[in-house]
Amino acid sequence: MDAASEYRCPVYSSDTVDAAKRAELLVRPVKSSADILALVSPILDSVRNGGDEGLRSCVVKFDRCLAAEDTAFPLTLKAPFPAELAKIDPKVKQAIDVAYSNIKAFHSAQMERESEPIRVETMPGVVCQRFARPIGSVGLYVPGGTAVLPSTALMLGVPAQVAGCKNITLATPPRPDGSISPEIIYIAGLVGAQTVVRAGGAHAIAAMAYGTETVPKADKLYGPGNQFVTAAKMSVAMDSGARVAIDVPAGPSEVLVIADKTADPALVASDLLGQQEHGLDSQSVLITIDCDDAYVEAVNAAVAEQAQALPRAEILRKSLSQSFILQTKTVDEAFAFSNDYAPEHLLLYIADAAKSIELVENAGSVFVGPWSPVACGDYASGTNHTLPTVGYAKQYSGVSTSSFLKHFTSQELSPAGLKNLGPYVEILADVEQLGAHKASVSLRLDKIAREGL
Ligand code: NAD
Repeated sequence: MDAASEYRCPVYSSDTVDAAKRAELLVRPVKSSADILALVSPILDSVRNGGDEGLRSCVVKFDRCLAAEDTAFPLTLKAPFPAELAKIDPKVKQAIDVAYSNIKAFHSAQMERESEPIRVETMPGVVCQRFARPIGSVGLYVPGGTAVLPSTALMLGVPAQVAGCKNITLATPPRPDGSISPEIIYIAGLVGAQTVVRAGGAHAIAAMAYGTETVPKADKLYGPGNQFVTAAKMSVAMDSGARVAIDVPAGPSEVLVIADKTADPALVASDLLGQQEHGLDSQSVLITIDCDDAYVEAVNAAVAEQAQALPRAEILRKSLSQSFILQTKTVDEAFAFSNDYAPEHLLLYIADAAKSIELVENAGSVFVGPWSPVACGDYASGTNHTLPTVGYAKQYSGVSTSSFLKHFTSQELSPAGLKNLGPYVEILADVEQLGAHKASVSLRLDKIAREGL
C-alpha cells in the first residue's frame, strides 16, 4: 500500500447506498459511555468525599502533576492573577484580543435580546412577564490533555462575563510542574474569572460540581473534554446531591461539507482535515452535489497530499478511514442527508450558499460560502465553538449567552383580570379535584364581589 492510499476517505454514491447503509453512515464512530462511567465513578467519589485532598491525589495520579505531591502546592489560583503568570507573546495577545472582541460583540448582541423582559397581557387584567437573570456560579472546563485550548477559555468565559455571572471558575489540567498555560491565565483575567483550578479530567468536574475547601461549587458546568470529562459531566448532572446542570452533550468534533462543482477540491480537503485532526474519534463528511468521480478523486488526492504534510499526520492516517464522501445528485438529496446527520459544523461550499441556509434544519454552526473556513468559527469570528455533536444538533443548541442565563416568569392579575380568568381556573381545578386550588380563586372572587372591586 502506498503512503497516499492510507490517507483516503471511503467514497459512496447515493445511487448504491440502500436504507440500511444510509442509517449506518449517519451513526458516529463513538464508544459506549457505560465502561467509562464505571472508571469515572471512584474518581468522583474521591473528590466528593475527600475535598481538596481527594482532588490533590487525582491531580498527581491522572494529570501527572508532580508539583501537587507537595501539600503546600495550591490547587487553585485566585484573582487577581499575578501578571507574571499571564506573560504572553504580543502577537498572541493581539490575536486573543481580536477574538475576545468579536466573541464579545456577538454574545453581547444576544444578551440585549435575551435580557429584555417579555410582557404580554394574555386577557384583560392578566399580565404575564418573563425575566432573565445570570446563573450565579459557573464552572468552565478548558481541555488541556493533548493540546492546550485557550480558544475554549474564550468561548466559555466571554458569554459568562457578558451574561453577568458573578462567580466564574475555570478548570484546566496543569503541567507536570504545576503551571498553567499563560494564555489561559491571561484569558481568565480578561473574562473576569475569580478562580483557576489546576486540575483536569473527571476530578476537576467533580470539584466544581460538589465544591471543595478551595474550589467554589458551580450551579452549571460547561465545556468540552475527553471521554472522562464527558462521562463525569453526565454523572454529576444525574446526581441530585450535586444539583448541577451541564451545557450540551459533548463528543468528538465533526464537520459535514456540502460541495458542488464550484468548490475548490484543495480547500474542501483542508476543511475535512481541520476537524479530522482533533482526534481518532472525530469524523469529517463530504456530500457532493452532481460531481463526477474525477472531482471526488481530486478531493481525495488533496486530502492525502495535505494530510501527510500536517503535524498530526499520524492521527489523520488512523482516522480518515472513518470519514467518508457521499456523492448525491441534487441539492435536496444532499440537505436531506445533512439534516439527518445533524452535524456540529456544516460548511456550505456551493453556489448560492447564503440562500441555502433556509434548507438547514439541524446543525451546530453553519459556515457559508468559500471564504468561511471552520477554523474561523473555532477561534475568532464571534460565534461559539462549543457545539452539539454526534447528532444532538437535532435537539440542542450550541453554547451561547443564554446558556449562562436562567429565566423566571411572573403574572399579575387585577380584580378585573381575576374576574375574567378565575371561573375557568375553578373549572379546571374541579376537573383535577384539587379543592384548595379552587378555593384560592373562589375566596378572592367572593371578596371582589363583596367589596365591589
Ligand atoms: P482533557 O483536558 O479533556 O483531558 C485530559 C485529562 O483527562 C487529563 O489531565 C487527566 O486528568 C484525564 N485522564 C487522562 N487519562 C485518564 C485516565 N486513564 N483515567 C482518568 N483520567 C484520565 O484533554 P484531552 O484529552 O486533550 O481531550 C480534549 C477533547 O476535547 C478532545 O476530544 C477534543 O476533540 C475535544 N474538544 C472538543 C471541542 C468542541 O467544541 N466540541 C473543542 C475543543 C476540544
